[in-house]
Amino acid sequence: MIVDFHTHSSASDGALAPSDLLLKAKAEGVSCFAITDHDTLAGYLSVKSSQAARDVGLISGVELSCRWAKTTIHVVGLDFDDTAAQMVEMVESLSASRVERAKTIAERLEKVGFSGALDGALKAANGSQIGRPHFAQWLVEAQHVTSLTEAFDKYLGAGKIGDVKAFWPAMADVVSGITAAGGIAVLAHPLKYRLTGMKLRALLNDFKTAGGECLEILNGRQPEPDMKRLSQMAESLNLLVSAGSDFHRSFEYGPTLGIDTDRLTAGRYLWCERALTGCVESTLDAKAR
Ligand code: AMP
Ligand code: MN
Ligand code: MN
Ligand code: MN
Repeated sequence: MIVDFHTHSSASDGALAPSDLLLKAKAEGVSCFAITDHDTLAGYLSVKSSQAARDVGLISGVELSCRWAKTTIHVVGLDFDDTAAQMVEMVESLSASRVERAKTIAERLEKVGFSGALDGALKAANGSQIGRPHFAQWLVEAQHVTSLTEAFDKYLGAGKIGDVKAFWPAMADVVSGITAAGGIAVLAHPLKYRLTGMKLRALLNDFKTAGGECLEILNGRQPEPDMKRLSQMAESLNLLVSAGSDFHRSFEYGPTLGIDTDRLTAGRYLWCERALTGCVESTLDAKAR
């Protein structure tokens, strides 16, 4: 069975239009799929009623920005009611925060001599949810750097001037927003936050206490031993497990869309334990595989 519970469309920082992302998922043989754009449902909503959505078993999804201690954390919400006031309000507020944050990022970039950053990033975003990747794109276009990687390494990555995180809500609030909308909160890429073992355990405990139910044990092209470590953590906390490519665009060393569930190490798979709304394979079918 091929699944993918973490992908991005052009509604946030992905390259493909939501409908093209579905076509790609279909070509990869995906039977349970989520579009999890950063802090917006726009991409998902624009395609959720299409035939392609039914073909790939599209469920509702979003990747929400939040903070825990001094760290920016990403929590994926899955299979929620997309009309629930809690979800709609949370996403609206996060979108507004992203616009304010973009202004602050631009001010900071101006201070180091890059004028026109806000206009440039807004143009790169082209109406989608604005984020650091759009600033990176502009920095490359304006020839201030030669690659997106250099843009993040020098100006936008963790701890650099453009890493503005003051605008995000607390993780516990985001987790309760997702569960209040009937969804499942998934802690995304737990090893990407570069926390010490002790801090990571504290994060997982707080996540679970807040109502978080699921851990992403596979995210894109992660090092081989990581999944085992994460599976064990999920097991010890009795959390469900999820997996996603975190696909943004095709590039040589990038992750491919779609995860063959045969690749996953033992765990309480989200799609086996829950009947996900819209998922093509029924819970029983999935279990039989
Ligand atoms: P934001 O949500 O605006 O904070 O931007 C975070 C996004 O930037 C992530 O979801 C990635 O898609 C992208 N990103 C983060 N770090 C890097 C990096 N070092 N190189 C390229 N893209 C990155
Ligand atoms: Mn992204
Ligand atoms: Mn993320
Ligand atoms: Mn992501």
